[in-house]
Amino acid sequence: MNRRTFIALSSLTGAGLILNHTTMGSNFLNSLTEDGNRMPVLFMGHGSPMNAIENNAYTEGWKSLMKDIPTPKAILVISAHWESKGTKVVAVDKPKLIYDMYGFPKELYDVKYPVDGAPELAKEISENVKFTEIGLDHEWGLDHGAWSILVHMYPDASIPCFQLSLNYTRDMQWHYDLAKELSYLRKKGVLIVGSGNIVHNLRYMAYMNSKPFDWALEFDAKTEELMNSGDHASLINYKTLGSAAEISVNSAEHYIPLLYTLALQQKDEKIIYANHDSKDTLIGSFMRSLRIG
Ligand code: ZN
Repeated sequence: MNRRTFIALSSLTGAGLILNHTTMGSNFLNSLTEDGNRMPVLFMGHGSPMNAIENNAYTEGWKSLMKDIPTPKAILVISAHWESKGTKVVAVDKPKLIYDMYGFPKELYDVKYPVDGAPELAKEISENVKFTEIGLDHEWGLDHGAWSILVHMYPDASIPCFQLSLNYTRDMQWHYDLAKELSYLRKKGVLIVGSGNIVHNLRYMAYMNSKPFDWALEFDAKTEELMNSGDHASLINYKTLGSAAEISVNSAEHYIPLLYTLALQQKDEKIIYANHDSKDTLIGSFMRSLRIG
């Protein structure tokens, strides 16, 4: 069954979701063939974990990027919050939620997202990608960089989800090059989502009623300009962009997921933005999000 047939069946029948769930078994994922259509790619500026339990202008912004995205076969999230030595991909049937944030209200730790994993697809990625060794992981699940956005993207948890880790021993160009090798997944109906923040330095965090920092505004504008002109080389080499870039990117784990998203951009694909007006919420961390394709 190709993707178009599958989507048509899902949308025509009341049992669409059930069909979706039951046919998402490992054999089905394994047998996916390319159908010529590329699934869009997202980068979600996830901001505060509290967005998971709120409905606000920013969660609406995320949803606006989802408009008309075909039902994915699976979602692969590259989250700022999973760094590892070596690259790993989650290969479990039922990914557990990881509550990797501290000092928040109890209701945030009560969030559930009972979603299936995609272990067969993880295995396939591990076998297909030649650029580096990708280990199968059975310990991780979904961290808050993933579930805090997924609960808004697909509240019914109907799409299998899994994560790829960030190898903290590698540089920006390496991450970008690895991401290029994931591009075949777009043609297999996998929705790839980078989750981080382009401007992210919590040492300068401040809430409402203060002005955004000049360096944050400068870097946000610069990255938009570079993304619009397709200048990925400058975005990879952000350290050459001056002090505003260095302060904004800080420890880089929130920035690297953007490089995974951009690496998947094809020449003919434009970028659509959301939450680029988020500068008054969390001053050291903007939530600019984007969709390619
Ligand atoms: Zn984060």
